[in-house]
Amino acid sequence: MKRMTRRPLPVVVLTCCFAASGMTQTIAPAPAPPASAPLSLAPPPPPPQLNQLSALGTTPEWLKLQSFHQTMTRAEFEAAVNDIYSDASPLPPPWKLESDGVVVQTGDPAKPEARIAFTQKAQPPLPGTRTWRKASELPPLKGRPILSDVHFAIDPGHIGGAYSPLEERYLSFASGEAIQEGHLTLLPAQVLAERLKALGAYVSLVRESLEPVTNMRSIDLIAPARQLLQEAGFPQPQESYSGLTGEAKIITVQWQSEKLFYRVSEIHARAKKVNVTIKPDVVLCLHYNAEAWGDATSPQFSPANHLHVLVNGCYAPVELQQQDVRFEMLHRLFSRIHEEELPLAEAVAGGMSSATALPAYLYTTPNARRVGASPYVYARNLLANRLYQCPVVYLEPYVMNHEETYRRLLNGHFLGRTLIAGRLQSSAIEDYVRGVVNGVVAYYQKHRPQ
Ligand SMILES: [Zn+2]
Repeated sequence: MKRMTRRPLPVVVLTCCFAASGMTQTIAPAPAPPASAPLSLAPPPPPPQLNQLSALGTTPEWLKLQSFHQTMTRAEFEAAVNDIYSDASPLPPPWKLESDGVVVQTGDPAKPEARIAFTQKAQPPLPGTRTWRKASELPPLKGRPILSDVHFAIDPGHIGGAYSPLEERYLSFASGEAIQEGHLTLLPAQVLAERLKALGAYVSLVRESLEPVTNMRSIDLIAPARQLLQEAGFPQPQESYSGLTGEAKIITVQWQSEKLFYRVSEIHARAKKVNVTIKPDVVLCLHYNAEAWGDATSPQFSPANHLHVLVNGCYAPVELQQQDVRFEMLHRLFSRIHEEELPLAEAVAGGMSSATALPAYLYTTPNARRVGASPYVYARNLLANRLYQCPVVYLEPYVMNHEETYRRLLNGHFLGRTLIAGRLQSSAIEDYVRGVVNGVVAYYQKHRPQ
């Protein structure tokens, strides 16, 4: 979808794991009225509003950043911003870098600035500021299985089942057969959980069935959907998308309230489960990619098939204008999550590339950037990898509408080889699991005390 650049998108929506550019999830704002004054006399653009919240976001507790006072050097802060968190945009970020601290605009008129002082010598964050442990902080192995003491949360992407057509994650090329991303992520999650446990790990599944984690449904989210459309410049949107396609469908109350349910509210509920209940050392988010398949009732195969692994980063200045997004990014940065997340993602990408033999996906959109040394690893600001307050490795192997991959996925999980599309092939799901296990094991072998 074409993006207008005249004014920043307000809250809007959302990233999506699909490679297909036609499946972008943002609402383009309504066109601005033509300016009446000649260009030379036009007033300067108003300063950005820094008090907005993302959809269903909550006002941050800026005081929490004070616990990172004098723990990070200025050089470390700048390197993290430049190498991972910024999208390399020329626009200035909503904070002011001083020689001995960073001053952040909070968006709160009562206390408009938060200042976090830098230190001369890096310090680990104070106890109590994070619930996860780096590999190097784990107890020594002393001959126990390699993943002993590590707590993994596995997050099978999407919901699946009856929700998969709504999620636009249902794909069928012939009657009587179909794949759903929400089901295809649960399969490797269950197998992976057993394999990791066999290596000594403690494992929690963020979702265990083809049901949502959130208690909200689209009917509960009509008012925020309306508000979102209003802020994007559509004060009188159509209610139902019946008979509509493309952009016209997206700017309806029905489509937005459904999106708020299965994407935004669902990820917020999972984040609460991860951060408050599970408190893992690492989250593994399992997804599959897809290329544009056109109309879901007569989808198209794609010749492309690829792999990439995401870490959190690449925040656009317009995203950082939202106070909760700004806070969550800084909280991740000062918690030093990236110091664990990136090398772990690189190790998992290595395992996945060996197990699947897939080539690296190449992003051509500005919402992602290459980070680190692996050609498979990109940074992106996704709701899940921003809200989960621990290292998150977000996997995007396989193009579901690649013909051979589709047929392999229809066969589900099996061991050994079976005849698929005229030749003996392994299970794509088994290869997925093997890739993650090998990557994780390689990482902990290298980084945890023996
Ligand atoms: Zn996905």
